[in-house]
Amino acid sequence: MDSVNKISGVYPWGHERRFNAFPDYFRRLYGSRMQKVSVDAGFTCPNRDGSKGTGGCTFCNNKAFNPSYCLPEKSITRQIEEGIEFHKKRYRKVQSYLVYFQAYSNTYAAVDRLSELYNEALAHKDVRGLVIGTRPDCVNDEILDFLAEISRRCILLLEFGIESCYDKTLLRINRGHTFKEAATATESASNRGLNVSAHFIFGLPGETRGEMLREAEIISRLPLKSVKFHQLQIIKGTAMEEEYKRNPADFEIFSWDDYLCFIIMFLEKLNPALVVERFTGEVPPRFLANEVWGKKRSDQIIGLIEKKLEELDTWQGRLYKGETA
Ligand code: SF4
Repeated sequence: MDSVNKISGVYPWGHERRFNAFPDYFRRLYGSRMQKVSVDAGFTCPNRDGSKGTGGCTFCNNKAFNPSYCLPEKSITRQIEEGIEFHKKRYRKVQSYLVYFQAYSNTYAAVDRLSELYNEALAHKDVRGLVIGTRPDCVNDEILDFLAEISRRCILLLEFGIESCYDKTLLRINRGHTFKEAATATESASNRGLNVSAHFIFGLPGETRGEMLREAEIISRLPLKSVKFHQLQIIKGTAMEEEYKRNPADFEIFSWDDYLCFIIMFLEKLNPALVVERFTGEVPPRFLANEVWGKKRSDQIIGLIEKKLEELDTWQGRLYKGETA
């Protein structure tokens, strides 16, 4: 990447949009749009089964984002078929799919079991690859070598939930791993040529906006390919809901206007080489214990962010000071 400035009408990521957008990156790399189909392969996670904890992360309720067709009682193949049927109604032109192993920690098993599950997904005729969501402490050399081997024959995106760059926050939300563990896992995966993405939440308890903004520099130094950002949404029935009721002043719950300003400032500091996959999370309102921003869909939110970038004549990485290669 040459520069963080616009050259010959396009930004360093090769198009005119003011941020390094995932769909454009993906189309350029693989030639077409693909839809993700989620599956629940019946995994758990070390923060729930007792190896690290039993309560889970304080914000977690997997039911809030697991589509209704995802049930671990159904085979992977059946979940893919039902998922494709579901998406075909909305995205008629999409012909190819990525299977998203999304619920819980999808590398939390022996390699033989992972191989069975991933290969069942890859055997489907419309599937071109996998997206595997997991915790950074649920990979080891053997698993990463295995994933690297799969990535040589299909598209593979490895997605780590990192959530925060601050250990004080990770401790408070009962995450069960440190930021250093996340950074080390990211490096080990990236050194094997894997495309690594990471997920972060803005608004976790005890974090100031200044601290959240400083995460742009920290995240920019990680060897990630792409990033997903979410505003904190407090899910009913979680430990965080109780904490929020007890001490709401400890939470920086963003209004939409605040979040828009924050995201613009964050993007300006973010490494332009990082592809941005999401700016917000969408949870069905019936699961939410805090205020929602009206009925904005994620594509409308992206439109509003792009409009604001245009108004302010700014773009991702405009104030970024580090390496961009
Ligand atoms: S967020 Fe992920 S790691 Fe945390 S409890 Fe839920 S499934 Fe486990």
